[in-house]
Amino acid sequence: MSCAHTPACPSVSDRSCWTAHVVADHSEQGWCRLCNGVILFDDGYYLAPDGHSEPVLVSA
Ligand SMILES: [Zn+2]
Repeated sequence: MSCAHTPACPSVSDRSCWTAHVVADHSEQGWCRLCNGVILFDDGYYLAPDGHSEPVLVSA
């Protein structure tokens, strides 16, 4: 997965993968696609390219 952002976006295996840049905003449908392929939903969950879904972790 190539990334042209600076600083580089986190990889999909990173715990903060959902903080990658938005590359396709479909917020009117409740989701957007991130630079690393993660789909971020506005209900607080994200879907990784391998198919698993997790709640967004808000780090303390
Ligand atoms: Zn990026």
